[in-house]
Amino acid sequence: GQNNLNAKLVLLGDMGAGKSSLVIRFVKGQFLEFQESTIGAAFFSQSVSVNNATVKFEIWDTAGQERYHSLAPMYYRGAAAAIIVYDITSSVFAQSQFACNPNMVMALAGNKCDLEDKRNVTAEEARIYADENGLFFLETSAKTAVNVNDIFYEIAKRLPRA
Ligand code: GDP
Ligand code: MG
Repeated sequence: GQNNLNAKLVLLGDMGAGKSSLVIRFVKGQFLEFQESTIGAAFFSQSVSVNNATVKFEIWDTAGQERYHSLAPMYYRGAAAAIIVYDITSSVFAQSQFACNPNMVMALAGNKCDLEDKRNVTAEEARIYADENGLFFLETSAKTAVNVNDIFYEIAKRLPRA
C-alpha cells in the first residue's frame, strides 16, 4: 500500500569495522565474536515501522572499500540510504572518500562503542566530521545492540515519502 516503502541501503566502511555484524544484529538479533569476512557482497532484508508506514530495507553489505573498491558504484546505484561504519578503536579515522550524496540519507556509525577502554576516535571529532558532511551520527555496538535498531529507525524516518 501507499504506506509501504522499499529502500535500498548500503553499508560502507573499512574491513573489520563491523558492517556485517551491525546488519546481522539488526536482521537476526545475533552477534558473533568471530564474524566471517564478507566475500563480495551479501544481501539482507528487514522491515521497520515508522509513522504508520513500513519501510522494508534491502540491505547490501560490502566486503570493505579497500579490497573491493571497484565494486562501490554498483552498490551505490539506486540506494536510498547508506551507513558509513568505522571502528571507534581504530587509529585511523579516514572517511573522507565518502562525500555526502544529497539524494541519499546517510548515517555515520561509530561502531564497537562497547570497547570504551580501547577508544581512539572521540564522539566529538566524529560528530564534527558528520556535521561537516551532512551525515547523521550515532555510536553503535553490534555486540551489545546499543543504537543498532535506532540507526535504522532514524534512517527510515528521514527517507522521503512519495
Ligand atoms: P566488517 O568487515 O566491517 O563486516 O566487520 P565484521 O562485522 O566482520 O566484524 C569484524 C570483527 O569485529 C568481528 O570479529 C566482530 O565480532 C567484531 N565486532 C563487530 N562489531 C562489534 C562491536 O560492536 N563490538 C565488538 N566488541 N566487536 C565487534
Ligand atoms: Mg563484512
